[in-house]
Amino acid sequence: MDLKTPLVSLAGIGPAFSSRLKNLNLKTVEDLINHYPFRYDDFSKNQDISQTQIGETVTLKGEIWSIKNIYTRYGKVLTQAIFNDGSGTLEIIWFNQPWLTKNIKAGDRLQVSGKINRKGNKTTLVSPVWERSTPEVGVGVLKPRGLGIHTGGLIPIYPETYGLSSKWLRYKISKILPNILEKIEDPMPDFISQDLLPLKDALKQIHFPDDLDKAKKARDRLAFDELFYIQLSSQKTRGEWQKKEKTEKLSIDEQKLTEFINSLPFKLTKAQEKVVEEIKIDLQKTTPMNRLLQGDVGSGKTIIAAISAFITHQNNLKTIIMAPTEILAFQHFETLKKFLEPYGIEVGIYTGSKKFTKQNYVIAIRHKPGKQSTQKQIATGCTVRCVPRNDNSQPDVIVGTHALLSKKLQPENVGLIIIDEQQRFGVSQRSLLRAKARSPHFLTMTATPIPRTVALTLYGDLDLSVIDEMPVGRKVVRTHFVPQKKRADAYKFMEKIVKDGQQIYIITPLIELSETMTSAKAVKVEFERLKKDIFPKLRLGLLHGRLKPKEKDAVILQFKNHEIDILVSTSVVEVGMDIPNAAVMVIEGAERFGLSQLHQLRGRVGRSDKQSYAFLFTESEQSSIVSRIKHLEKIYSGLKLAELDLKIRGGGEIFSTLQSGRWELKIASFSDLNLIEKTKTAVSKILSESLELDKYPVLRAKLSNLEQRIMPD
Ligand code: ADP
Ligand code: MG
Repeated sequence: MDLKTPLVSLAGIGPAFSSRLKNLNLKTVEDLINHYPFRYDDFSKNQDISQTQIGETVTLKGEIWSIKNIYTRYGKVLTQAIFNDGSGTLEIIWFNQPWLTKNIKAGDRLQVSGKINRKGNKTTLVSPVWERSTPEVGVGVLKPRGLGIHTGGLIPIYPETYGLSSKWLRYKISKILPNILEKIEDPMPDFISQDLLPLKDALKQIHFPDDLDKAKKARDRLAFDELFYIQLSSQKTRGEWQKKEKTEKLSIDEQKLTEFINSLPFKLTKAQEKVVEEIKIDLQKTTPMNRLLQGDVGSGKTIIAAISAFITHQNNLKTIIMAPTEILAFQHFETLKKFLEPYGIEVGIYTGSKKFTKQNYVIAIRHKPGKQSTQKQIATGCTVRCVPRNDNSQPDVIVGTHALLSKKLQPENVGLIIIDEQQRFGVSQRSLLRAKARSPHFLTMTATPIPRTVALTLYGDLDLSVIDEMPVGRKVVRTHFVPQKKRADAYKFMEKIVKDGQQIYIITPLIELSETMTSAKAVKVEFERLKKDIFPKLRLGLLHGRLKPKEKDAVILQFKNHEIDILVSTSVVEVGMDIPNAAVMVIEGAERFGLSQLHQLRGRVGRSDKQSYAFLFTESEQSSIVSRIKHLEKIYSGLKLAELDLKIRGGGEIFSTLQSGRWELKIASFSDLNLIEKTKTAVSKILSESLELDKYPVLRAKLSNLEQRIMPD
């Protein structure tokens, strides 16, 4: 067995466990030993029965004198045991585990941990954790002799999933850890880790700590590692990029550029102007641009893409723009065409959907001006009006989806690659796209607000631009927390909105991060309820991540064409979906979302000159929950809300979507500025010796190993 050994190949882990393990993202032995507990039960007080006090949590060692099941009138079953340790006797009760009488027999020696109770004049222990007193594997290595794995000392409690309890995880880890620890080599150079717990000790202590102080030291060490490796990877990439990558610098015809910008139907905001300047500087360097553009939904990132493509075109180079969905790709296609075509810049679209073309991949469908709108073409299957070009030249700007990554697309002279909503793409997709051109400039755009500290850690390899200002005249989405007693009023208001010819989104609670059957089921139930009981006269549509892409597109299109009044959806509604006629965003179970997520969701309304609204319903009306949610009534900056998230909840789960395809924090926190600083200094130190980590082959191997792991398929 080594770190790479798949868990399912281990004895005692059958096929039934493989999907459960997958739920926790555990595949290998390495994953399992890096599955850290989030707290400990303190069972360190060993006691004689005669000495116990009511209310005390203790560990006792003794013998089972008798054990039996008692069936109650209400169909429940109690297991009752008499337990004696020489100093005294007490009664143990377990609920609804009738099989225990098969496992535990009179005469068995057990060690039990739990809280002492009194029932009448009897001392009892209710639902204690138990194990046999004969030491299990690992005791003596992991814990001092005399302590159990599940009882005695500090007992780790893990993130669990259905069918994988802490007890199971603890048992497996206790068996694996002693064998694997000796094979672990710490890749971290001594001069960096000298003040920290050695890695092996940290791994042992995080699972089976001697005391809480040791547990904290273990945590510190592992959190340090986590932030260290993330930054090592991004800073190393950045260094290599700056050292090795060379490109032709672009030249800018200022006069023509100004003319183009002045011709736009609006004046750029100050923030947009600043970003344009930053990009212009980048494009005129021999090091290719590698910039992350962050701006709230509606802040106007697309026009930045258009301006960048315009400059690239001035240099006779092409631009590729990748969007996460076909809908978004078509949206960009339309917008860019509008801005760029008057300047003789041809815009084409490239997607993999059969719907759009007869063949699977037709390069650069030319949109015939004056014919049906692209929307219509999607609807009608777009077979006639999207004609492949008969000459082999490619348009100057190619907008598309993942299909752009296809080997069949071999664009020439690409000078700029733009990725929209980049968090939806993985590292490997980025590099695939990059391989389409020799050292292209790179611009990635995201509406996900990322606090600066987080951006510097996660995206340290990128330069950061922020659009922190909305175009003038934009109405803010008037946001209200709606208490339960006002729900009916809200529904009445929504009905009126629909009567006035506008549309509504209703988002159902976030049940799990990656959408599975549970979410799909929950949204269906809510959909039926709304249709039957609340809005029987209105046209409702249903959208969730379990629909086939075709079905999804069809629903979105119906909503777009106003054949649906209310779209009931999980939070997967397409990022950047642009339906100006939608005026109300209702979010159920709002407390389950981060503030910045809620902000993103409400950003899907407020896209016309009419006033729009967000209604936030919560499941609980606890004051701390309500006051958190109410921040949205006053704060309208995504970035500010993201920073609040970080302060209030530590940001862990909030950034998990952001991190997919990047790194995932298990133990460190983005709010730990101190540790971020410390690890950053360590990284700079080590990279200043050599970018290739020449002196540290083990570290280098570990890093490339980690980078492999974060590459999604
Ligand atoms: P996002 O940042 O979400 O991608 P878009 O680029 O789609 O935002 O812009 C949202 C809308 O705002 C578009 O209709 C766009 O034309 C408009 N817009 C962009 N910049 C400005 C501006 N400076 N003034 C007025 N409207 C603008
Ligand atoms: Mg956008």
